[in-house]
Amino acid sequence: MSAPILRRLADLRAATRPWIRAGERIGVVPTMGALHDGHLSLVAAARATCDRVIVTIFVNPKQFNNPQDLASYPRTEEEDARKLARFDVDALWVPDGAQMYPPAFATTVSVSGLTDVMEGAWRPGHFEGVATVVTKLFTQTSATDAFFGEKDYQQFLVVRRMATDLDLGVTVHGCPTIRDIDGLALSSRNLLLSDRARTMAPRLHEEMEVIALGLRAGKPFAPLREAALTRLDKAGFTGADYLDLRAQDDLAALDVPDRPARLFAAAWLAGVRLIDNIAVE
Ligand code: AMP
Repeated sequence: MSAPILRRLADLRAATRPWIRAGERIGVVPTMGALHDGHLSLVAAARATCDRVIVTIFVNPKQFNNPQDLASYPRTEEEDARKLARFDVDALWVPDGAQMYPPAFATTVSVSGLTDVMEGAWRPGHFEGVATVVTKLFTQTSATDAFFGEKDYQQFLVVRRMATDLDLGVTVHGCPTIRDIDGLALSSRNLLLSDRARTMAPRLHEEMEVIALGLRAGKPFAPLREAALTRLDKAGFTGADYLDLRAQDDLAALDVPDRPARLFAAAWLAGVRLIDNIAVE
């Protein structure tokens, strides 16, 4: 059965009131829509863990630092609702901008440290936008649990830090990245790739795997990184914002993966910014 689509906070509160009274576990899956199997894996995890599942769809203007990116972000609400029909979702929370940010809105949630690097450095204001909207989504939905993708690993760490620091009472779960058969991490922005660019896109993940293999063989990171960047350049990528080896808990930069680490990349292909990360054993 299709979940009710709720657009007003009063309706969301009315829906959650009996669940809260019954002490049920309420799982929230925050998304910006254009749902794909990556999002749906989070919904499945929420369904398996919680009594109630709320999927939110809100293209959050505050987390876009580039107006063109916001304007071109895919919006496919009807199809999204159809995709969710088989998951027994209890509510779809689809607020509009005025509902989320009324005219006098003046509060920002900001997480320091984890946001200094990578996405935080390259997209000024991005994580303030994320932390602010996610705080609102957690309190609006009365969530006990939230499900985030490791695809956006830094975001997952930031949200978990924020939920802990602010005593929001929400357990933040990180779920594995879902990939296409050729290795490309699923992303709503993949819809913006031309057919030709789409065939080139898996190269980013391939090169990250090559680096991980080299690291496992004891090779130093810097030359592996340089070689991968050169090959990406030759393959048609138009630059990388970063290609970093970092500790998986505090995102400290590493030369060798001497503690649990991940490789993180953001690279441009045909005007589309692809991001990915993988664990390095
Ligand atoms: P977005 O709609 O891009 O804001 O993403 C909503 C949630 O889906 C975030 O927690 C993302 O990390 C997660 N997500 C996006 N792509 C994937 C993927 N390929 N695998 C797993 N989770 C994903």
